[in-house]
Amino acid sequence: RSKDQGGNTHHSYQHKLHANAEERRLMEFELRNALEREQLHVEYQPVVNADGDNILVGFEALLRWNNPKFGNVSPAKFVPVAEDARLIVPIGDFVLRRACKDAMSWPESTRVAVNISVDQLTSTNFVETVISALHDSGMPAWRLELEVTESIFLRDGTLAVQVLDRLRGLGIKLSLDDFGTGYSSLGYLRNVRFDTIKVDRSFVQGAAKNKAESLAIIRAVVALADSLNIATTAEGVETESELAMIQQLGCKKIQGYYFGRPMVFADSLELFKGPRRNVA
Ligand code: C2E
Ligand code: MG
Ligand code: MG
Ligand code: MG
Repeated sequence: RSKDQGGNTHHSYQHKLHANAEERRLMEFELRNALEREQLHVEYQPVVNADGDNILVGFEALLRWNNPKFGNVSPAKFVPVAEDARLIVPIGDFVLRRACKDAMSWPESTRVAVNISVDQLTSTNFVETVISALHDSGMPAWRLELEVTESIFLRDGTLAVQVLDRLRGLGIKLSLDDFGTGYSSLGYLRNVRFDTIKVDRSFVQGAAKNKAESLAIIRAVVALADSLNIATTAEGVETESELAMIQQLGCKKIQGYYFGRPMVFADSLELFKGPRRNVA
């Protein structure tokens, strides 16, 4: 390419970097008041049994932010900003409390899964916070599932393991989210008893396009989980062929647009009206 093009590329790259840092700064500023301005709400995405009857077993709570300046911002974008600004602890508390409260309006057997950042997990009194959320909502511990990613073992693995142990001791379910995308080894599976491994959507969607590697990885993860007596959930099932493939590979639970997108709480209640509790 010509020197001119190179120069332009360099210039716009710099410009983009600058805009990004500025955007993050502004976003952090707006996030500081997002809770009190009631710009945050929680949506719920169905999780169903994979064995063909499509029984709804629970929901994952997913945080949403609507801001006058930024509009609807993806949590993939603002959660990292909230983490860097140490705002994820109060925001995460809000999600936990809301999810427990809302779950009490669903049938008794329905679980709720809440994503937990490493900063939350290792914050002082996290276990007490969870106990208090359960107590205030009246929800039994076994209906609460906490989702963590492999990244929690990178920073202070010992502390993370201790906290997860205490939570498990309370009867709370533990899930390992986005499995296969992190950097850590399999060794931590010896130290924490997870109830569920969530197979990352990149493998599920890669496999539907007939990628032998994705299929082999999912098969290996399911076999590993089976032998450790851990259930598997496939994330990001969007199509009938992905569903068929996942069922054949033996995943226990399924989550994805095929069965339902994240929805506001009121819409989640609609799923329980009528004679059937099936989603699809
Ligand atoms: P995650 O925990 O892996 O959540 C699953 C994400 O996949 C959600 O994105 C969900 O909407 C999306 N998804 C589900 N099914 C499908 C599908 O069939 N196709 C596609 N393309 N996507 C699907 P979302 O809601 O944008 O959340 C992104 C991430 O933000 C979450 O990934 C989680 O890491 C984080 N996050 C969301 N809420 C919270 C929260 O309350 N606390 C923390 N710490 N992180 C959160
Ligand atoms: Mg999750
Ligand atoms: Mg996930
Ligand atoms: Mg994911």
